[in-house]
Amino acid sequence: MNTIEKYESEVRGYCRAFPVEFTTAKGAWLTDADGNKYLDFFAGAGALNYGHNDDTMKKAVLEYIENDGITHSLDMFSNAKREFLERFYEVILEPRDMGHYKAQFPGPTGTNAVEAALKLARKVTGRENIMSFTNGFHGMTLGSLAVTGNAFKRKGAGVTLGDVSPMPFDGYMGDTDTIEFIDAMLADGGSGVDKPAAAIIETVQGEGGVNAAKLDWIKRLADVLKKHDILLIVDDIQIGCGRSGHFFSFEEVGIKPDIITLSKSLSGYGMPFAMVLFRPELDVWAPGEHNGTFRGFNPAFVTATKALDFWTNDDFAKSVRKKSEMAIKSLEKTAALAEKYCGHVRGRGLMLGIGFNDDSLAGEIAAECFKHKLIIENAGFNDEVLKLLPSLTISEEDLQKGLDIIHEATKAVIERREKKAA
Ligand code: PLP
Repeated sequence: MNTIEKYESEVRGYCRAFPVEFTTAKGAWLTDADGNKYLDFFAGAGALNYGHNDDTMKKAVLEYIENDGITHSLDMFSNAKREFLERFYEVILEPRDMGHYKAQFPGPTGTNAVEAALKLARKVTGRENIMSFTNGFHGMTLGSLAVTGNAFKRKGAGVTLGDVSPMPFDGYMGDTDTIEFIDAMLADGGSGVDKPAAAIIETVQGEGGVNAAKLDWIKRLADVLKKHDILLIVDDIQIGCGRSGHFFSFEEVGIKPDIITLSKSLSGYGMPFAMVLFRPELDVWAPGEHNGTFRGFNPAFVTATKALDFWTNDDFAKSVRKKSEMAIKSLEKTAALAEKYCGHVRGRGLMLGIGFNDDSLAGEIAAECFKHKLIIENAGFNDEVLKLLPSLTISEEDLQKGLDIIHEATKAVIERREKKAA
C-alpha cells in the first residue's frame, strides 16, 4: 500500500485502474515516477482536448502569474475575464450566430454548470420537473445526480432524487422511435409526466456508454420540446470544445439550444473552469442569486483565451474529423475480432468506443492495454464499452499507435478466453 492508498479515502477510482504515480506529461503522453511513458487515450476524462501542458497556454499562464496577474477575484471585473469573453464571442459565438447569448460563470466544475442550468430553467419557467435521459450523466451534486441515470451513482446521494422524468435516449427502445414516445408522453395529460421546465441532454453520452444520438433524432427532439414550450439544455461538458469535430456538438444538427453547459476542456489546460450560456431572454437571475467563491478562476481565463487560437479557422476541426474517420476504420477491424461478443463501434468525433455484450471484456482489454502503456477507460453502466478519448491534438502517428495497441490487446484477450474455454 502506498502513501496515497494509506491516506486517501476508498472513494478513489481511476488510480485503481492505472496504479502508477505520474510525474510529468506532455501532449498525448504521461510519464510515471520510474520514467515509463504512457500514451493517453483518456485525456483527463475529456478535460485535456488540447493535450497535456500545451506550450502556448503554459507560456501565457506563467507570464500572467509572473506579472502578479490577479488570481482570485470572485466575479469582480478582471482583464483576464474581459479578454476571454472578447475572444470567446469573437471566435466562437459570433461566427455561429450566437453572439446574443449571455455567459454565466458558475463554480469551476461541470456539475456546478449543470446545477446553474437546472436552477435557471426552473426559475424561468416556474416549473419543477426536468426531463432527463436514460444513461445520461451530469455530475455528482444532488441536482445533477437527479438527472443522471446510473443507479450506483444515484444511490450515493443518500436522499430521494426527485423532480425528474427520465425519457428513453435514442436507441434505448430498440426500433421504437423514442421521439414519438416522448412527444406522446408530453402531449397526454394522463401520462403522469408533469410538464418539464427543460430537458437536459448529452448529444453523445460519455459516461453512459458512448451513445451517440442520431443528428436527426436530436433535431426532432428540439422540435418536440419547442412544440411543448420546454427549454433545451445541451450538456456539452464532455463532447463539447471540439470533441465532436465541431466546437459545439449540436452544430451539425443545426439547432441552437436554450441553455448550454461547458467545462472540462474549456480552459484548455486542465484548469478548473465552467460556463453556462443561454439566450438573453432567459437571463432572469438577480445579482448574486447564484454565486460561488471560485467562479471565474483567472489563470483558467488566460489559458482558455489561448485555447481559442485553435478555433480561428476550420483547420483544427477538420483535423479532428479526419482523425475520427481514421480511428473508426481501425476500430471496426478491432470490433470484428470480437464478433462473438457483438463488438461494435460507437460514438462521434473523437469520443469513440467499442461496445460488447459481455460486461467484463472491455475491462480486460483496458487492463491489457495498460500493460502495453496505453491509458484507456471503460464506460456504460456495466463498464461494457471500451471508451477512447484521446486528445484532439494527438498526432496521427500516435493515434495509430494507440489503435494498434487496442487491436493487439483485444486479440490477446479473446485468444486467452478461447484457450480457457477449449
Ligand atoms: N456533464 C457531463 C456530460 C460529464 O461528462 C460530466 C463529467 O464527466 C459532468 C457533467 C460533471 O462534470 P464534473 O465532474 O466536472 O463535475
